[in-house]
Amino acid sequence: YACGQTVYDDLHIGNARMYSNWDVVVRYFKWRGYKIFYVRNFTDVGHLTSDADVGEDKIEKAARKEKKSAQEIANYYFSIFRKDIRELNIEEPTIWCKATEHIKDQIEMIKILEKKGYTYRTSDGIYFDTSKLKDYGKLARLDIKGLQAGKRVKIGEKKNKTDFALWKFSKKPGVRQQEWDSPWGIGYPGWHIECSAMSSKYLGKQFDIHTGGIDHIPIHHTNEIAQSESAFGKKPWVRYWLHGNFLVNKEGSKVSKSTGGLYTLTELKEKGFEPMVYRYFCLGTHYRKKLVFSFENLQNAKNSYARLKNLINETKDDSKINEGYLKEFHKAINDDLNMPKALQVLWKLVRDKNAQGKIGTIRKMEEVTSLNLLKKEELKIPQEVKQLLEEREKARKQKNWKKADKIREKIYKLGYIVEDDKEGTKIKKR
Ligand code: AMP
Ligand code: ZN
Repeated sequence: YACGQTVYDDLHIGNARMYSNWDVVVRYFKWRGYKIFYVRNFTDVGHLTSDADVGEDKIEKAARKEKKSAQEIANYYFSIFRKDIRELNIEEPTIWCKATEHIKDQIEMIKILEKKGYTYRTSDGIYFDTSKLKDYGKLARLDIKGLQAGKRVKIGEKKNKTDFALWKFSKKPGVRQQEWDSPWGIGYPGWHIECSAMSSKYLGKQFDIHTGGIDHIPIHHTNEIAQSESAFGKKPWVRYWLHGNFLVNKEGSKVSKSTGGLYTLTELKEKGFEPMVYRYFCLGTHYRKKLVFSFENLQNAKNSYARLKNLINETKDDSKINEGYLKEFHKAINDDLNMPKALQVLWKLVRDKNAQGKIGTIRKMEEVTSLNLLKKEELKIPQEVKQLLEEREKARKQKNWKKADKIREKIYKLGYIVEDDKEGTKIKKR
């Protein structure tokens, strides 16, 4: 289960880094022959501008700003999101699930928690009482005592600072665009319950892998664990958590709207960086490390990616597999998804003059890396060159070899090499 995007804005390159990492996880398991059931949500209600329970619903806020309905906003940004991740070669999940289509499941889960005595009511909503759990905060190793000691921080009607909303009441029913009836009153679900209810609906009360950003550890995932283990009685609810680190600026802080550097994929393309270059850039840093974004770093990745592709392009396929390199590659990924190391193995293979089975092995590696390394670029030939090619073809037909050679030289000066063989005339970049 991958905590998905809150679809109120364009996908930015920070999000794209995160999802590229999880794509490698999915592809890796498929490569190893595992059957995958991959669920991704997209949040179209309940994610407030603060990860805690204050602030405004991000979707409602965007809807008001753009003068659209909440569902128009969610559907629009979801479609952009889908197009963007496709361009990054990020595979589609087995199931996409949308929070607003699972309200019933969320209400059912809150009902279980209520029955088991984990909830209480305030004037603002139904809350989860975290003091009922001895191990609350275990994922983040939260210092609960320290947190509670800071009680001077306003907690309103909440019993404990760490308690969180399962269901929020609409302040004035009819004002919000998205609200539903529930046993407790008209309102909307908390963001955390959405993920717990949807993941468990499709993956069961206990499942293997849950991913997200490191920002999710102290609140979102901590609360997902608390409510899910309380409701389902299975420990651990999730066997493995994978948390990705941030894309940061040179100063080391997360790229964000306020610190700048929050580009979209389209903006990167306009600056000459194709999505595959960005994917290559991302895989070059371990998912648990910060990745420093700058155009200089991205340019280095672009150069390196182009070099790699060129070298591969010049390599002949001998229809073999190089088991040694493949093993080394596998070992790198097995070491906590060490993709930078895995890419180094790929590079070593490409540069190894004596290695056999290069292309076949790269094809296998590409099942995980998915960087279009074997995809031939379609050559975009300028109109001027096209015209010269036609003229040359005419000259050749008239057996005017001198003229044909002169045109070939002209084409060469424009940056292209023309070669004739039995199959006809071929053109490539110089
Ligand atoms: P948001 O756009 O804040 O809803 O975040 C959606 C996902 O992208 C979450 O998993 C975040 O952890 C992740 N994310 C947001 N900003 C960044 C960033 N600068 N670097 C990496 N991941 C990010
Ligand atoms: Zn989530």
